[in-house]
Amino acid sequence: GVELRMLSQKEMKQLEPNMRGVRALLSPSTGILDSQALMRYFLDKARSNGAQIAYETKVIGIDKIPDGYRVNVEDSQGNFSFTTKVLINCAGLNSDKVAGMAGIDIDEASYRLRFCKGEYYSVNNRKSGLLNRLIYPVPTTTGLGAHVCFDVSGRMRIGPLYYYVDEVDYKIDDSRKKALCQSAIMAALPFIEPHDLEPEMAGVKASPQGKDEGFRDFIINHECNMALPGFINLIGIDSPGLTSAPAIAKYVGTLVDETLRNY
Ligand SMILES: Cc1cc2nc3c(=O)[nH]c(=O)nc-3n(C[C@H](O)[C@H](O)[C@H](O)COP(=O)(O)OP(=O)(O)OC[C@H]3O[C@@H](n4cnc5c(N)ncnc54)[C@H](O)[C@@H]3O)c2cc1C
Repeated sequence: GVELRMLSQKEMKQLEPNMRGVRALLSPSTGILDSQALMRYFLDKARSNGAQIAYETKVIGIDKIPDGYRVNVEDSQGNFSFTTKVLINCAGLNSDKVAGMAGIDIDEASYRLRFCKGEYYSVNNRKSGLLNRLIYPVPTTTGLGAHVCFDVSGRMRIGPLYYYVDEVDYKIDDSRKKALCQSAIMAALPFIEPHDLEPEMAGVKASPQGKDEGFRDFIINHECNMALPGFINLIGIDSPGLTSAPAIAKYVGTLVDETLRNY
């Protein structure tokens, strides 16, 4: 598990003099990573192991064939297809639709995804130096809540403020800033005032649960029970999917080995 230490108010104030709170939990191994650099590393690793990447190429259909699958795709030149014994669906926001292309009833299987948008606000640079680490409020049953994060250049931001949306877009609805200002994290940071916060960016999560529904874990299934041997679904890989990616990849690797052994 993750190492955690309970801090008294005095210890908390020594580490974060500008933070308000009664006590705190310290997670000494928590860190920030450069997600683009991590992607470049994974890409290099995959290529050196023989992977070929088809960019700007969309899966539009999947046919079950005796020895595996025919995958129909579309790119700027037109449509083509390829066949494979093992097919791993990790299409993020579209992973439920891709599962549906293989003939799975996504409502019956409880695979239908909801879109959950998270908005971040950057904190005025003059205040960025007033904290030394990531700060989280006490989590609720529905998530971590908006928290303090830093980008790799040290710029402070607060978020994500999550809400469900019907369509994917990356616009920020700044009428929600008031809700952020009233969130638990802001109560711990009295030095940040509403005018210190500027809308910065938004992201959309593929959430396996809808608004006010209980927490659901990642869905990682080898669909042999649905008569689809070799079809592996990764659906609703919500946060912390990036942190979990190496562990997920190892697990999926065991499913692939198992499939190939049974061929
Ligand atoms: C605001 C926000 C903050 C987050 N913060 C964190 C964090 O701090 N730590 C953390 O660990 N995680 C975080 N996450 C979660 C993390 O980003 C996801 O868990 C992770 O990106 C999921 O990876 P994925 O590969 O399943 O999906 P994605 O990263 O969405 O990749 C899916 C890929 O499939 C492609 N695709 C989609 N449809 C098709 C199709 N039909 N044909 C071909 N390709 C297709 C897409 O173009 C994309 O390249 C955050 C997410 C959000 C939105």
